[in-house]
Amino acid sequence: MRVLVISDVHANLAALEAVLADAQGDYDAVWCLGDSVGYGPEPNECVTRIRELGAIAVVGNHDWAALSRMDVEDFNPVAKRAVLWTREQLSAENMAWLGSLPAQPLVQGAFTLTHGSPRDPVWEYILYPATAAANYASFATAFCLVGHTHIPMLYVQQPETERKVRSLAPVFGRRIALGGGWRIILNPGSVGQPRDNDPRSAYAILDTEAETWEARRVAYPIEVTQAHMRAAQLPERLINRLAFGW
Ligand code: ZN
Repeated sequence: MRVLVISDVHANLAALEAVLADAQGDYDAVWCLGDSVGYGPEPNECVTRIRELGAIAVVGNHDWAALSRMDVEDFNPVAKRAVLWTREQLSAENMAWLGSLPAQPLVQGAFTLTHGSPRDPVWEYILYPATAAANYASFATAFCLVGHTHIPMLYVQQPETERKVRSLAPVFGRRIALGGGWRIILNPGSVGQPRDNDPRSAYAILDTEAETWEARRVAYPIEVTQAHMRAAQLPERLINRLAFGW
């Protein structure tokens, strides 16, 4: 099975559409690692699109905030404004769908899906090998898919010394083999708000039988999303950062 792996769409419809066009239907399923809303200007359009795709999804911290399951005071001021705006926008149907998503890691064959990390699914950021290393005991499958950091990355546990973990930045457009008995934590990056100094949308194509992973990037019309954000009076800082990919 070929899986389109997306994460952190953050209500950026132009980015989501660019990813879907780039993937050209070359997948049998869609897995979404959370934060479908928050920051961006099209929460309903994005959730509706993700639902139409029949995506298997988990909940992210921004989804939780939109659902009022947490105090917005935990967010910085600009994120908080976007959360409050998102709450007003979301239809009851889309709210219900977000509310139905699991907060606990979801197992699909050899893959565990979660937003932040397997030991702290909604909140923890896996940004360093040491954090990744501390998480291998919290999932039972060979592989774990995470989002949340908005940075495409792989964390590979060396089979000979279980504690040693290496981070590996992907080469975009190159398919790599995951097999060989290694346990790997994989992050596809963010569709709607990349933070690795590359403003293009990030996603991945996973082949679950061949056990291959291909990280990809695609440009999208950033100015379209920015114009919608301005019209919605979302914070200028959130509008500007899309152009820098940070
Ligand atoms: Zn996010």
